[in-house]
Amino acid sequence: MSTRHRLRWGFTVPAILGMVMALAWTLIGLPGWTGTAKAAPAGKLSAAVTPPVACDKKDSPDKGWIQVFYVYRNGESRFEEMRDTVKRIAWNIDQTFEASAQRFGQGDSRRLRFVQDDNCQIEVTPIGADLPDKLSLGEARGHADNWIKEHLLKDDGGYFGRHKPVYFVDAEGVDGCGLGGGAHAGGLGGGWAGVTFGCWGEQALTHELIHAFGFNHCNGADDQGNDPICRGADQTPRCDDLLAGTVLDCAKDEFAYFHPRPAPGSPLAENPEGNIANSPYLIKNQPAPPVDAQLVGTKGRCLASGGAGKAAAQKECGDDTVWRRTISTDGYFQLELKGTKQCLSSTESGDKAHVLSACDKGDERQHWMMFDAAGPDKEHYKLANRATKEEARIADEAEFKMHFSVGSATTDAEGTEPTSDEPSEQGAEPQSDGTKPASSDAEDDADLAATGGDMGTSLSIAIGALALAVLGGAILMKTRRKRAASSHRAR
Ligand SMILES: [Zn+2]
Repeated sequence: MSTRHRLRWGFTVPAILGMVMALAWTLIGLPGWTGTAKAAPAGKLSAAVTPPVACDKKDSPDKGWIQVFYVYRNGESRFEEMRDTVKRIAWNIDQTFEASAQRFGQGDSRRLRFVQDDNCQIEVTPIGADLPDKLSLGEARGHADNWIKEHLLKDDGGYFGRHKPVYFVDAEGVDGCGLGGGAHAGGLGGGWAGVTFGCWGEQALTHELIHAFGFNHCNGADDQGNDPICRGADQTPRCDDLLAGTVLDCAKDEFAYFHPRPAPGSPLAENPEGNIANSPYLIKNQPAPPVDAQLVGTKGRCLASGGAGKAAAQKECGDDTVWRRTISTDGYFQLELKGTKQCLSSTESGDKAHVLSACDKGDERQHWMMFDAAGPDKEHYKLANRATKEEARIADEAEFKMHFSVGSATTDAEGTEPTSDEPSEQGAEPQSDGTKPASSDAEDDADLAATGGDMGTSLSIAIGALALAVLGGAILMKTRRKRAASSHRAR
């Protein structure tokens, strides 16, 4: 395949190390990882609870759906253990799409239209297949597609025309990290995404989902190094931001594929079909509400205030250790100790202390990104701070579970009527029906890779997703590795 599919090795040292480690993980099949999701006791906060997604209980021919599947080898299912984790990761992707829309600062919302239950909870559908001992991720996808054809195909054969399946593959011997393909960014059409267990996580899946909307890696614009769809494999990234590997269309420049409200005359305004923000697979009128959660460290204690003027601490979990997470300025999260108007803040001094200070949306020390799927059970999050660009170790904990309350997980969605979801902005833009979708090339490319017809492409995509998965870590480490940082920024 063309050179754009080859990984460029002028990437940071930690990223390469991370890729090697991640590839090794994948190749050995990640033995021994087990899930620990437990049923949620009534009234308690729990890691097994995931907030609802944007509600939609009514189908219509103009709607597209994201459907989440857990794919396993017959006889080796861990579905009961893994269902909550899968749901949580899928919800994290929803939060990323919402953050990506909100960071344009124009009051717009974009959330994924998931196949869901009556409580607006993501439905995870298990797919058992007779997988051979060794197979590619593309071949695993083929088995899963066949299952859908047997079980879910509508009378009109239209499943794949309006559904993008997302496959969480949990089987040893599957070669690869992530794959995705599709077309028609702003309209209905095919598309799918898949990841193997070692790569389960919001960042890798967001990357694959962008493929599912029809985009190739950077669509050939090789100088967009650290956009989520550019894989971080370039030395001249234009988006020098902690969220560079996370939010869609990070650089907001002429390599544009996601903008809720593109300026008149801009390329996306002229080509609404090439704008993921116009997609009928997204819900546009249900902004993500804040979520309340405890941040539970590995020792079972909760992140809390350490008292006035003191560093944040770990305390016994209780009503006074609940944080309200909102999507704040530029797509970052802000964490307010609920009801106190005090927000978690990182100091920029060398001691890396974390304190609570008066909430201020514009204060970058209060802007956080949260990496999901950390730890062997994939239930932990790591926090990184926008101002310090470093991963936070807070009161001796670096990983936290988010425990949502059973009640609050549905409160915010209750009463939300599934309203008609007309893409209001879309109609205002000039329609260009004759324009060839920008994504046709990506569709061919990704589908070819997915069928195993081009293993070079398939492998490079997998490696690319690996690079993406470690990109955040690489960025975080760059402040500690000045040489790596300077080469990262070199132009
Ligand atoms: Zn890719």
